Amino acid sequence: MSTAIAHYIQGQPVANTSGRAQDVTNPATGAVTAQVGLAGVDQVNAAVAAAQAAFPKWADTPPIRRARVMFKFLELLNRHKDELAHLITAEHGKVFTDAQGEVSRGIDIVEFACGIPQLLKGDFTEQVSTGIDNWTLRQPLGVVAGITPFNFPVMVPMWMFPVAIAAGNTFVLKPSPTDPSASLRMAELLTEAGLPDGVFNVVQGDKVAVDALLENPDVKAISFVGSTPIANYIYETGARHGKRVQALGGAKNHMVVMPDADIDQAVDALIGAGYGSAGERCMAISVAVLVGDVADRLLPKLIERTKTLQVLDGENLAAEMGPIVTRAAHERITGYIDLGVKEGAKLLVDGRGFDGAKAGAGCADGFWMGGTLFDHVTPEMRIYKEEIFGPVLGCVRVDDLAAAVDLINAHEFGNGVSCFTRDGNVAREFGRRIQVGMVGINVPIPVPMAWHGFGGWKRSLFGDMHAYGEEGVRFYTKQKSIMQRWPESIGKGAEFVMPTAK
Ligand code: NAD
Repeated sequence: MSTAIAHYIQGQPVANTSGRAQDVTNPATGAVTAQVGLAGVDQVNAAVAAAQAAFPKWADTPPIRRARVMFKFLELLNRHKDELAHLITAEHGKVFTDAQGEVSRGIDIVEFACGIPQLLKGDFTEQVSTGIDNWTLRQPLGVVAGITPFNFPVMVPMWMFPVAIAAGNTFVLKPSPTDPSASLRMAELLTEAGLPDGVFNVVQGDKVAVDALLENPDVKAISFVGSTPIANYIYETGARHGKRVQALGGAKNHMVVMPDADIDQAVDALIGAGYGSAGERCMAISVAVLVGDVADRLLPKLIERTKTLQVLDGENLAAEMGPIVTRAAHERITGYIDLGVKEGAKLLVDGRGFDGAKAGAGCADGFWMGGTLFDHVTPEMRIYKEEIFGPVLGCVRVDDLAAAVDLINAHEFGNGVSCFTRDGNVAREFGRRIQVGMVGINVPIPVPMAWHGFGGWKRSLFGDMHAYGEEGVRFYTKQKSIMQRWPESIGKGAEFVMPTAK
């Protein structure tokens, strides 16, 4: 009998009552390891009700005391880091060291949230008019919800809830049903850290649960991370229901290699950023833009390195790339490789037909593929335009920097981008002209640190505020302005003209 995974409401695990469930699979072996319950509307509303009931007291708790819970949570996360990383590898498939990195990047956000007393300080102007002071402060919104993707089951929820909770909100997380276990472990750790019951709740589920959150009037804001069509839907539906929404979507991230770049460094960067986590990162590089004559110097090394990728069970510490997350994703990615061949791109390395048995004991029936490399990809091809979200790297050849910038700026996505060069002026021009939210110069995956905030442009983000950092604090709070004077300084008689400074 496999395990039943369900919800966490009001400080405790709660069994699923909807009668609907979905298999959880170990992608390395293909074995079903658990069933995750898919919440119905009633259970989502119960989680929101628990969060709503917990809100007034939590919002009233002094920020320093909320921060102390975050400090304790931080300590527990550090203690349980490897346990969380193993949970990720077991349900997502990414290699264990990468999973450890994911947990660490989530922990960064908790460290940031520990500084909430400083982050919530308002602005004060003494004597805006005679005897009158004016100040602005930020207050929490109420119940806020997070809807998260499969590819970072620890880090992406932690882009949201540490900041939201530290700012005085209560939270309902709806993680991806593909890898649900880590969310429940984080909920337990928050309880152990002293977070009052109901402040953080988890409901597992699918569209039914998401729609219930979108329609519940007590949910004041939604943070979403996932694919662009769903991000668009969440943004429009959330706005129609009067909610504040930030919805981060899909990506097609380019890495430009200029002729003066260090070729070995560029190859290492493309391999790590293209095939790390099997390309299932929203900041993965999926297009190499090879400028001038760089292709002929770079490709022989890139081909060699792609062919020698260590594709192994994620628990093997020698692994560079693990399996694909699900059978359906494996089929989708294989379909895109077939399509690329049909569209006329040149297949340099073919990851199809990889024998899982070579990845480790028990892996024969897992969802395995090797790294795939295409050359002569052109902007009209669907393998260029669409997000494949797998270990498939396409090379586009262009003549110069201007052509590289035009190519990237014309793409519908604008999440991350990178440029490898030794020329400071090229780097500066690239950074200024590129229409992308997160830019790396000789940095292939420029995920901003906890205090800078994460977000793409164009159809990679709907809404105007980035995740975490100070933008996160702004997203999860609303500004209030208070203007005050005392009876001794109030003049005589009603005023009928617009007040001005006196
Ligand atoms: P997804 O869009 O399928 O799912 C994301 C969330 O939405 C999940 O919780 C899922 O249960 C829910 N969902 C799925 N279909 C829904 C529907 N029809 N209605 C309502 N809710 C629905 O994404 P995924 O496959 O889990 O994750 C991969 C995608 O996430 C990729 O497109 C990737 O680029 C993107 N992503 C983006 C970022 C970013 O920061 N921009 C970060 C990570 C992942």
